[in-house]
Amino acid sequence: LPFFAPGHLIPVVDMAAIFSARGARCTILTTPVNADIIRPAVDRANDSDCHGTDSPSPAVDIFVVPFPDVGLPPGMENLMFLTPAHGAECPLKFIQAVQLLREPFDRFMAANRPDAVVSDSFFSWSADAAAEHGVPRLVFLGSSVFARCCSETMVLNSFHELEPDYVEHFRTTLGRRAWLVGPVALASKDMAKRGRPDNTEAHVTEGCLRWMDRKPAGSVVYVSFGTFTSFSPAELRELARGLDLSGKDFVWVISSGTGTDGSEWMPEGFAELMARGDRGFIIRGWAPQTLILNHHALGGFMTHCGWNSALEAVSAGVPMVTWPRYADQFYNEKLIVEVLKVGVSIGAKDFASPLEGHEVIGGEVIAGSIGRLMGSGEEGDAVRKKAKDLSVKARSAMEKGGSSYGDFGRLMDELMARRSPG
Ligand code: UDP
Repeated sequence: LPFFAPGHLIPVVDMAAIFSARGARCTILTTPVNADIIRPAVDRANDSDCHGTDSPSPAVDIFVVPFPDVGLPPGMENLMFLTPAHGAECPLKFIQAVQLLREPFDRFMAANRPDAVVSDSFFSWSADAAAEHGVPRLVFLGSSVFARCCSETMVLNSFHELEPDYVEHFRTTLGRRAWLVGPVALASKDMAKRGRPDNTEAHVTEGCLRWMDRKPAGSVVYVSFGTFTSFSPAELRELARGLDLSGKDFVWVISSGTGTDGSEWMPEGFAELMARGDRGFIIRGWAPQTLILNHHALGGFMTHCGWNSALEAVSAGVPMVTWPRYADQFYNEKLIVEVLKVGVSIGAKDFASPLEGHEVIGGEVIAGSIGRLMGSGEEGDAVRKKAKDLSVKARSAMEKGGSSYGDFGRLMDELMARRSPG
C-alpha cells in the first residue's frame, strides 16, 4: 500500500520486485492513475525471469480501487499533480481521500487474506486495519537511517525524575544523546501566578479567574483539548451531558470554529445550566491555561494528552482525565495513567486525525471518569497524591542543583566548548 507520491510509489514497487524474486506473491493496492504510473515498473518486474515463482500468473499484481470521491478534479490522485493554484482545500481533500481508502483496503484484506502488509507510514489507519484482520503490518519509512539518527538526538522537554526508566533506556540501551531540560513551562518562577504571556483577552482571564475564586479548593474540572483537536456535534453533546451529569463545576474551552452554533450540539437543559452561571464557565478561543491549572480551585484536567498540556498539569500538580485523539497522545496517556498513575483514562480507543471521525463516548462514561478522578474514593486520593508529589519533583528539577538545571548547564558547556575561536 504505497502512498500517492512518486517518492513513495517507486521504492514500494521496487520492493515488491525483490519480494517476488524471493518467491513471494505481491499485490500493490492503488488507484487508477497511480496504477498507470507504476504499471511499466510492475511489468518489468514480471518480465524478468528471476521472480522466483513457477506460476504463470504475475508475481507482482496491481489491485485497482477507485480514488475516493472527495470533490477533487478527476485524475488528481497523486500529490505531484497538486499545485498551490488548486487552492488551499485540495490538500485537505487529498488527506480525506487517503482516510477513505480504508474501506476498500478492508474489503481486499477480507477477500485475499495476505500473509503480511507493507504500508506507507502515511496510512496510519492501516496499522489497526491489518491488526483487525490478524495480519502483520510492516511500516515502510522512506528515509535514511542517518536522517532517523539525526532526528533522535535532541533536547527534550521532560525531566529525569518524571520518567527515569525511559531516560535510562533512551540513553543507555538505545545509546541516544539527549538533554532533559524541562518542564520548560516553569521557565519563569512566577509563571503559576502571572501565567504565560499570550494573547488571551484580558476580560476572559479576569472573568475566568474571578469565577474560579468563588469555588472551593480542588472542586473545578478544566476541560481543554489543545489547539488542533476538534469534536463532532455528537461528541460535543455527550461531553456537555457528561459535564452536567458529573455534578462538578467546570471551565470548558471550546476552540473557536468548533461548535459555534450551539443548536447543533447542546443537549436539552444545557443552555439553562450555563445561564445559571454557577456550574460552568465556557471559554471560546484561547484560554489562560497555565493560570487555570495553577488556581487553587482546580481539581482535575480533562485533556487530549498533548505533551505541553500534560507537562503543564504535572508541573501544577493537577491530576488528569485522559482523552487522547491522535499523534503521540495515546503514548502520553499510557505514561500518565499506567506509569505515573496521575490520571484516569476516559477509555478512548480510536486513533484518528482531526479530519476523521471518532467514536462517540457517552456522557455517562465521561461523568464516571470525572467522578473517579475527583471523587472521594481511594483511586482519586491516590492519583491526587501522586500528582502533588510529581509537581514538587518537577519544580526541583528546574531549580539550581536540580536535574534539568544540570542538563541545561551541560548542554551550554558543550555548546560553548564548540564555539569557533574569535
Ligand atoms: N493553550 C493555551 N490556551 C488554550 C489552548 C492551548 O494556553 O486555549 C496552550 C497550552 O497551555 C499548551 C499548548 O497551547 O502549552 C498546546 O500544546 P499541547 O501539546 O498540549 O497540544 P496541541 O495543541 O499541540 O495538540
